[in-house]
Amino acid sequence: MRSRLTLLMAAVVLAGCTTGGATPGTSAAATPGTSPASPAGSAAESPAGSAAESPAGSPAGSGAASFPADSTLGQIQAKGELTCGVKFDVIAFGFRNPTSGEVEGFDADLCREIAAALGVEPKFVEAISANRIPFLLEDRVDLVISTMTRNEERLQQIDFSKIYYLAGQRILVKSDSDYQSIDDLVAAGVPVCSGQGSTSEANLREAGVTEDNLVLFGTYTEAAAALVDGRCDAVSTDDSILFGLAAQNEGLEVRGERFTEEPLGIGIKKGKEDLVEFVNDVLEAMAEDGRWAALYDKHIKPYTGEEAPEPPLDM
Ligand code: GLU
Repeated sequence: MRSRLTLLMAAVVLAGCTTGGATPGTSAAATPGTSPASPAGSAAESPAGSAAESPAGSPAGSGAASFPADSTLGQIQAKGELTCGVKFDVIAFGFRNPTSGEVEGFDADLCREIAAALGVEPKFVEAISANRIPFLLEDRVDLVISTMTRNEERLQQIDFSKIYYLAGQRILVKSDSDYQSIDDLVAAGVPVCSGQGSTSEANLREAGVTEDNLVLFGTYTEAAAALVDGRCDAVSTDDSILFGLAAQNEGLEVRGERFTEEPLGIGIKKGKEDLVEFVNDVLEAMAEDGRWAALYDKHIKPYTGEEAPEPPLDM
């Protein structure tokens, strides 16, 4: 771990000396390391800043370390792109901006940071809750960065990075609703909407929502539309997703306490230990140099109104 971190730091120092070069072609979105939200002086030292100045898909010219051709990292460098499965409809984490076509949010920017540290381009594929693990197992993506809870059950099938964000499950209801908590919804025996293949679905069963009252959708956008039309009395999932839905739909609000902990991690297919270690090193570097907090301020603070917490990496 330490030696890889040293390697990464060396790459960063080298990158700081790189000047000129082509701008990456596929992503017009602001590079987190160079955005105004970044701490002063961080751009020159950040892997993201380095990639912005490096020829696309050319790790050798980017200042990123080159990895052996037979390693997972070397294979990603050879193809010149890091494919990330992200949400396309979750504001603040993974959201395809309909105007620009760019995928925005905390998860999307984590993909950009990791790609930049490898000297490759980020590529985004939509990964909804139910297809995250299949996409990894079928090698359709290198990483899943899709508001995904790391838990024991999923760890049987895939590996995870360190925790990059701590969410918790809550409820979203119409502002004129009397329901204040998940217990109120269970006691009233009313339908609750959620995402198929999510931990939220399982948590609702555990909280006492019956099969008849569990209304599942592929995406949380569809779940929110069902709440608006009255097909269910609440949407329940990670609060970090609900805040975005409340912002997108007038007359909806997030209520009650968190009734679960949802530690979000980056999913990686088993057998790619070098990629897990690399991703963890990038997350650690981001926590240390302020890029994690800058991403929180940029994407999440506008919805929570709260100051950036300590990055939860080691939980
Ligand atoms: N974090 C939870 C999960 O991984 C719920 C959010 C989601 O479905 O993306 O299942």
